Amino acid sequence: MLLPVSNSRRDLLSGSSPDAIAIELTSRCNLHCKMCRFWKRGDKDFPCEKVLSLLDEAYELGARRFDPWGTELFMRDDMPEILEYADRIGFRNINIVSNGLLLNRPELLDRLAKIRSLVITVSLDGPEAVHDELRGPGVFKQAVSSLRELGHRNLARGIASIIMRPTINHLDKIIDLAADLKIETLSLQPFNRNFLEPGCDETLFDFSPREEKMISKKLKYLLKYAKQKRVIIYTGSMMKHVASYLARGVNPIPPRGCRVPLKTLVVDIAGNTHPCFAVLRNMGNVNEMNLSSIWHGDVHRKAAVSAIERKCPGCLMACSDVDGYDFGIMNNFRRMTDRTAGRLSRHIERRFQTLRDFFVHAGK
Ligand code: SF4
Ligand code: SF4
Repeated sequence: MLLPVSNSRRDLLSGSSPDAIAIELTSRCNLHCKMCRFWKRGDKDFPCEKVLSLLDEAYELGARRFDPWGTELFMRDDMPEILEYADRIGFRNINIVSNGLLLNRPELLDRLAKIRSLVITVSLDGPEAVHDELRGPGVFKQAVSSLRELGHRNLARGIASIIMRPTINHLDKIIDLAADLKIETLSLQPFNRNFLEPGCDETLFDFSPREEKMISKKLKYLLKYAKQKRVIIYTGSMMKHVASYLARGVNPIPPRGCRVPLKTLVVDIAGNTHPCFAVLRNMGNVNEMNLSSIWHGDVHRKAAVSAIERKCPGCLMACSDVDGYDFGIMNNFRRMTDRTAGRLSRHIERRFQTLRDFFVHAGK
């Protein structure tokens, strides 16, 4: 039920603009991973022209981050065109998650390498045997090879891993791999039981309440180990909530409320808009309304206030308010300096790459 909006909350929201637009671009996938049901959703793509016009509208509204989402985004042949367009009109941060299988093509990589605002995160759930058991034979090698190629072209890269029963004892190997590949950020994300096919045996992936202490201990160890290896755990601030979430299904909300609905506009493949990835309430369809009326509409305002007042259902997704769990001044300062240092080093690497390319070309 939507809650009444107080005057002060109305003031807080007036004149707000989104930081990000997240558009579901495809429901096609080239894998049939055991812990996921989304590859069964059919083979739809969000029409390219509509994506481009939504990007224009979102930019006008103030968004500077673009989070394409869906199943395997590189199933779309026009993916580079969409990303280039977003970069060209001024989006400063474009984040893609991929299983890595279709990335390793020289022409594609050459195009992606020119998109300066792009960050590509490849899913890796464990060492080869664990990853391939979940996702299919040969997938690990191809994903790692794509990560290497992205690195050779100085593309900003990350790894995302799911914390679940088959992986929890092996995630230190992913930290080792990130360190070896000089990948600075790893996102550890708790398994989401809503991603399973109804009727699937949840105990294969999920945990029981009596395992809470064990999960907590393992995650503490992983955080410590990542620190030793100088790998940043992007979701580190959420880790203290993961054990109760996985073992008892407790859905947390950041202590000062969740700001996702205030910052992000989520559009699904049918054009319906949502306040976040976990609340599927439709705020209006982009084929019938413009983004500005949806963003400034009552349904969005009420959902945003409900999240700020900690009255939303709560969740623990990597797309939830990760910073909202990290409210200590020193923690915020540390995360800010970590990110700035990472961005700066990527910027310098790319500049040098451009100069190297120029001199190599000039010498020919
Ligand atoms: S987890 Fe990702 S790669 Fe695997 S089937 Fe689901 S959408 Fe495809
Ligand atoms: S459900 Fe999750 S992402 Fe959505 S508003 Fe609540 S805490 Fe934030």
